[in-house]
Amino acid sequence: MGTLDGTVALITGASSGIGEAAAEALAERGAAVALAARRGDRLNELAKRIEAGGGQALVIEADITDREQAEGVVQKTVEELGRLDTLVNNAGMMLLGPVVGAPVEEWERMVSINVMGLLYCAHAALPHLLAAAESDPRRVADMVNISSVAGRVARSGSGVYNATKHGVGAFSEALRQEVTGRYVRISLVEPGAVATELAGHNRPEIRETIQQRFEDVERLQAPDIADTIAYIVTRPRHMAINEMLIRPTQQLG
Ligand code: NDP
Repeated sequence: MGTLDGTVALITGASSGIGEAAAEALAERGAAVALAARRGDRLNELAKRIEAGGGQALVIEADITDREQAEGVVQKTVEELGRLDTLVNNAGMMLLGPVVGAPVEEWERMVSINVMGLLYCAHAALPHLLAAAESDPRRVADMVNISSVAGRVARSGSGVYNATKHGVGAFSEALRQEVTGRYVRISLVEPGAVATELAGHNRPEIRETIQQRFEDVERLQAPDIADTIAYIVTRPRHMAINEMLIRPTQQLG
């Protein structure tokens, strides 16, 4: 028996990287998982793997920068799986580069997913998380927000990504104070460099800069962060992990 038996988890950005690994980790521990992202083919492959392992998975193809679609993701999860105990707010983008002369469209994309997408999902999920926290089997519920080392430390060349992730940290702490007394735990995870598709969306010259920065660093793998998320949501009811900063051992800043 897994410790998440009888619970439901929604993972945004489950089509690759950290979200995909987190969905597998929570399913392994007994949660029924709702998988949200835009790439339905990738979600379907993941759902097949989870089901082949004896788990239950629901695919929800959606762009959560659209408020109605984000709300629809939460609604469909609850309609099809019956409840919502855990929300992993993971979907995000990292488009780096100098502020001077930056394509503002890149900022709009990052703010709309890293901030607004997360806020839409959090807002829609909260009534269901509060209800789950009042019911068996756990009498506690979780929202895990994926920030970054970039949400702690600002660097030249990461200004707007820094702004979005610092925003996620501030929102998480304020929300934590609002709902923790009702047994909804709000946790912040701040990974350093993880080997995923994240950097690949940058312009070629920026990709090169990122590659050079982490050339000699043995990066984290998505399952390392998934393991952290699983640890956070399987703590006893009286114990809340508020924040986890996780760097590759060799990463300095
Ligand atoms: P990936 O690029 O592999 O995953 C990002 C996920 O977000 C994808 O599943 C993508 O799915 C989804 N996504 C992006 N835009 C949307 C959208 N509009 N609607 C729904 N889903 C969307 O990168 P990671 O796994 O690395 O990133 C996950 C999180 O971890 C991000 O918040 C990132 O900032 C954070 N992080 C990553 C680090 C790293 O080094 N990799 C370090 C620190 C933090 P699809 O394209 O199918 O919609």
